Amino acid sequence: MVVPAKRNSRSKVKRRRLHQKLKEINLVSCKKCNNKILPHRACNFCGYFYKE
Ligand SMILES: [Zn+2]
Repeated sequence: MVVPAKRNSRSKVKRRRLHQKLKEINLVSCKKCNNKILPHRACNFCGYFYKE
């Protein structure tokens, strides 16, 4: 079993996890009910799917 030689400092852990942050999701408004929905998905509120 591998044992870590030294404990990571708080700043080192934070620096590593800085890049794990999720990107902000892009929301578009539904053409039918104007609620915020995910693009390329059917609307959660009215089930409408916008086709180009
Ligand atoms: Zn809708």
